[in-house]
Amino acid sequence: MRKKIVAGNWKMNNDLAETQELLSHLKMQLVKEPEAEVMVAPAFTNLYSAFQGLKDTPVQVVAQNMHQAENGAYTGEVSAKMLKSIGVDTVILGHSERRAHFGETNEILAEKVNSALKSEMKIIFCFGEELADRKSDKHFDLVAKQLEESLYQISEADWKNVILAYEPVWAIGTGETASPEQAQEMHAFIRRNISEKFNDEIAQNVSILYGGSVKPANAKEIFAKEDVDGGLIGGASLKAVDFVEIINAF
Ligand code: 13P
Repeated sequence: MRKKIVAGNWKMNNDLAETQELLSHLKMQLVKEPEAEVMVAPAFTNLYSAFQGLKDTPVQVVAQNMHQAENGAYTGEVSAKMLKSIGVDTVILGHSERRAHFGETNEILAEKVNSALKSEMKIIFCFGEELADRKSDKHFDLVAKQLEESLYQISEADWKNVILAYEPVWAIGTGETASPEQAQEMHAFIRRNISEKFNDEIAQNVSILYGGSVKPANAKEIFAKEDVDGGLIGGASLKAVDFVEIINAF
C-alpha cells in the first residue's frame, strides 16, 4: 500500500507569529485522525518553532529547499545537516518557483537530490511541464527528461526516501487545475517510466502527489484517481479550514 500524503507548501508566507497562529488553528481543526500523512513546509525562519510546536501531533515539518553542499562559503544557504539538527528530515526539491526564479537546473537538482539522500533525508521531488510544453504535446517528454536528469541516478534502495510531486506549472497559483483525468494520465505515465527504468515494485510503492490549484472543491475528485496518492498544496494550505478539508478528502 502506497502512503497517502497531503503536504502544505507555505512558500514565502507567514512570519513567526502568523506561523504559530496557523499551526494552532490546524491542530484545533484536525480533530479526527487523518488517513493521509500530513506535512507542512514553513519558511526557514519558522521551521524550528514549527517543529517544536508539532512534536506531539501527526503533522510533520518539512523544508522548502536546501543547498547541495555540506557546508562552506555559500552565503544565504542552508544545508541538510542544519535541517537535520533541528529535527527536520524531509525537504522539497525542484519546485518550479526555484527552477524559474533561482536558476535551479536539472543538473543542480541532481546534486541536491544526491546530497539530501546521502544525508538520509527524505525528499519531495517536484517537476512538471509548462503550458507551452503541454500545448505542443511535449509534456510527457519533458517530465521524463526532468526525472531522467535529476532523479534516475539514485539507487534502488534510495527510493524508499522519495516522494514525487507532479506540479504542472500552468496550474500553480492560477486557479486552473489539471483535470483529474489529466493528473491520472501523467501519474500513470510516471509510474510506467519508473517501472521501465527501475522496476515495478519501486514504481508501485512510490507516492506521487499532484500539485496545482488543489482546493476543497476539487481535492476529492483528484485524490480518487488510482495513481494520485495525495497533494502538494500551496494557496489553500494557508487557511487551516481549507487545508483540513483537503486532508479529509481522503
Ligand atoms: P497552489 O496550490 O497555490 O496552486 O500551489 C501549488 C504549489 O506550488 C505547491 O507546491
